Amino acid sequence: ADAFDEDCDYLFKAVLIGDSGVGKSNLLSRFAKDEFRLDSKPTIGVEFAYRNVKVSEKLIKAQIWDTAGQERFRAITSSYYRGALGALLVYDITRRATFESVKKWLRELRQFGSSDMVVILLGNKLDLGHSREVSQEEGNHLAEEEGLCFMETSALEKLNVEEAFLLMITKIHEITS
Ligand code: GDP
Ligand code: MG
Repeated sequence: ADAFDEDCDYLFKAVLIGDSGVGKSNLLSRFAKDEFRLDSKPTIGVEFAYRNVKVSEKLIKAQIWDTAGQERFRAITSSYYRGALGALLVYDITRRATFESVKKWLRELRQFGSSDMVVILLGNKLDLGHSREVSQEEGNHLAEEEGLCFMETSALEKLNVEEAFLLMITKIHEITS
């Protein structure tokens, strides 16, 4: 551990999941580095990124794992989920098929992840409201049914990105402290 690790009170692992192209990597780069890419380079995805956040006077180091595009081949392995305390499950509000995959992702989460994992459902690409295929009510309804928190985000326009990650991190902190 480097000097910095010793200064932080908690280290949390969380994962990003959801169909290919929904914006997972851009949500993470927005949160971790405040960057956005118009082109999608799924194979160059980082393994994970860190950001430090302060929650109730505790310094938390959030380690967020991203896929390197394996979700296209349904090849995410159990090690991806191991030790994860939270998950951001992302769909694209302009592609209904990605919303329909949410239940499949939840099954995988429940199979490989820990049962008390904090799961936040995110409908991303809120900036593309004119091509919306999934209403906010549908997102809300599914989240209620499955006992998840729900938000709509835009990695492009920085809408609710910070809020979504912080909600997850705060909830993890509540559960673990
Ligand atoms: P991933 O496969 O889930 O990691 O998705 P990416 O982050 O690679 O994004 C896929 C494509 O969607 C890229 O072309 C991004 O620029 C685009 N994208 C991601 N988030 C948003 C968003 O919030 N709004 C818009 N308009 N495009 C987005
Ligand atoms: Mg990606």
